[in-house]
Amino acid sequence: MDHLGEQARHAALEGNQIDLIEVDPIATILHLLRRGERFLVCSHSRPDGDAVGSMLAMGMLLGWMGKRADLVAADRIPSIYRRLPGAEGIQNAMRVHGPYDAVILLECDGLERTRLRGLEPFLHINIDHHATGRRFGAVNWIDRQAASVGEMVLRLIKAAGATVTTEMAVCLYTTLLTDTGGFCYGGTRASTFALAQELTLAGADPVKIAQDVYFSTATSKLLLLGTALSNLNREGRLAWLWVTHQDMIRTCAAEEDCEGIVNYAICIAGVEAAVFLRELPDQRIRLSLRSKGRVNVSTIAARLGGGGHDNAAGLTLDGPISHALEEILMELRPRVAGFGSGEEASEKAGSWVNRESRLENEE
Ligand code: 5GP
Ligand code: MN
Repeated sequence: MDHLGEQARHAALEGNQIDLIEVDPIATILHLLRRGERFLVCSHSRPDGDAVGSMLAMGMLLGWMGKRADLVAADRIPSIYRRLPGAEGIQNAMRVHGPYDAVILLECDGLERTRLRGLEPFLHINIDHHATGRRFGAVNWIDRQAASVGEMVLRLIKAAGATVTTEMAVCLYTTLLTDTGGFCYGGTRASTFALAQELTLAGADPVKIAQDVYFSTATSKLLLLGTALSNLNREGRLAWLWVTHQDMIRTCAAEEDCEGIVNYAICIAGVEAAVFLRELPDQRIRLSLRSKGRVNVSTIAARLGGGGHDNAAGLTLDGPISHALEEILMELRPRVAGFGSGEEASEKAGSWVNRESRLENEE
């Protein structure tokens, strides 16, 4: 390693904040992993496919290195990801105790995003690929070009000299599939398919994984989707839909049943940006934002306290739903103002007010 790399390593070992993207983040992280014994691996609350798959693969790498790895999540692992190899080993807890030589945070823009308590005393290794990623760790490796954090974990595995096992390949392929929305989202490029090929050759079965992820839907999710669709609204290039906490209870829906509902709004011809709003038990509102590429939703989410990618982001706002909706529409309307109504794109009506779905405090 060159002089700059050495400096970075020393700074990281001493717990100083340093941006390692210009030096050698992979070598620095592997060095920290080799010299430690016990690690915590965690990701964001309400884990998605990339969070779960990259945690599991990271745990497998640490196992191969002969290290002890605790995998901990504050929220339940969604049932479609509970079938991933090793998923039963992820502990559900609100607080961690350590001691740990380092905490590896995957896909987080800060310690709070994990919703785990007790992380503060340890060395933080931050591995992320979000546009809104922040350098909160002692070591920060943020690669916006990576299709998933799983892709970054794969690079670590290979740099460590480990063979990519079938179990690793299944977890990593799942991160790739889910974070690209089934190879649909912006950023899907030739290298994404090269990675998919590499993981398939290493033992991931693309058909089985796609079936586990996309054809294993809970009935409660479809009931919830029906409710959300009955609350669908369209205004030119924008579309939105929502569910109340009462809807969640009535349909016996779990949190994970909300994943992907926003896609039914962004998939409409002519719509450029879409919002799914969900009322939480504490009456705050969780928002999922999606764009087809002309609107950057990560900057909007970040401005309002959330974050994410240019085409997929999320945030939490104060309720009621009508208030949160107005707040987000005020941000979105100016951004689509120059795009026309969207009517030319095969729709008879570019805007559609859903009279059946009025919110409680509307007339
Ligand atoms: P989703 O709408 O599926 O919950 O999230 C879309 C993307 O935005 C994901 O990459 C997710 O990690 C990110 N995201 C969602 N909510 C938040 C948030 O509150 N803070 C940050 N920093 N990122 C978020
Ligand atoms: Mn991700």
